[in-house]
Amino acid sequence: GKPILEVNNLRVSFKMYAGEVQAVRGVSFTVNKGEVLAIVGESGCGKSVTAQTIMRLVPSPPSMIKEGSSILFDGKHEIAKMNESQMQHIRGQEMGMIFQDPMTSLNPTKTVGAQISEGILKHQKVSKVEGLKRAAELLTLVGMSNAQERIHQYPHELSGGMRQRVMIALSLACNPKLLIADEPTTALDVTIQAQIIDLLRDIQEKTETSIILITHDLGVVAEMAHKVIVMYAGKVVERGTLDDIFYNPRHPYTWGLLRSVPRLDSDKNNELASIPGTPPDLYSPPVGCAFAARCPYAMKVCKEIDPEHFEVSADHSAACWLNHPDAPEVEMPVGIGR
Ligand code: SF4
Ligand code: MG
Repeated sequence: GKPILEVNNLRVSFKMYAGEVQAVRGVSFTVNKGEVLAIVGESGCGKSVTAQTIMRLVPSPPSMIKEGSSILFDGKHEIAKMNESQMQHIRGQEMGMIFQDPMTSLNPTKTVGAQISEGILKHQKVSKVEGLKRAAELLTLVGMSNAQERIHQYPHELSGGMRQRVMIALSLACNPKLLIADEPTTALDVTIQAQIIDLLRDIQEKTETSIILITHDLGVVAEMAHKVIVMYAGKVVERGTLDDIFYNPRHPYTWGLLRSVPRLDSDKNNELASIPGTPPDLYSPPVGCAFAARCPYAMKVCKEIDPEHFEVSADHSAACWLNHPDAPEVEMPVGIGR
């Protein structure tokens, strides 16, 4: 497919009293039409800031999109340079966003039908009646039975899973070309998570909407994504197809992520606990590889020079010195890779 989104050297900083936090440090990736790209990494890695910057939802100040950053949408809109009124058009008409907690984005004082049809009426010339009819159709599409009655309900009358379905219906109201889903299932319990993922995958296949899926949950990634980028300390450390990342990962941080996939018997909040240490301070990022302090394979060069991406194949690359042709051979940890 043709690209729907081309992010090039995106850098985003936050101006704080203590200095500048470099939250996103030169991120590049492409999402093609009809494709699901997952962005994975620990909290604080810059994945949510990246997603929210694509929607221009990060308030500026304190955030700043640095000079040289480009977010090209649909081959013609330079998101990085848009003003708020241009962005409102894009957000309502071309991009949709699904957040972790639907309660923060649904209006508690309006029925779900009113909210969804408002989204429709804002951008399409249809009557109120037609808007409500379409709202009910969308609720049916997202798997809510009795849509005719549901449209008259308020968010607090619905369960968490139902609210997330409403949120998805709302995000689909404008037939977006790109959906951004930031931890769409994290707040839900396990059975409901699986249902919502099935729903998203169904809708994606039916509508061929492109999706950027932000998650720390590699189980969700495996269910839905075509391509994956792994972020660490504001940078992309590995990019590849789903198979590349799961079966031939080439960055020790990706190995750590894969090893820390929560098991059924473990505490679900124990996110990525098996990678010891913490990410670096992004007020003053390290000179060399940002993962060096936590990496069991770190070499002298790692602490001195930040590795560029080494290409593994056309779709697959990793920013790690172990992929240099002169690097020593290391064994992947047990249980990782093919
Ligand atoms: Fe580890 Fe060095 Fe690779 Fe960084 S570049 S991940 S420190 S081996
Ligand atoms: Mg987040």
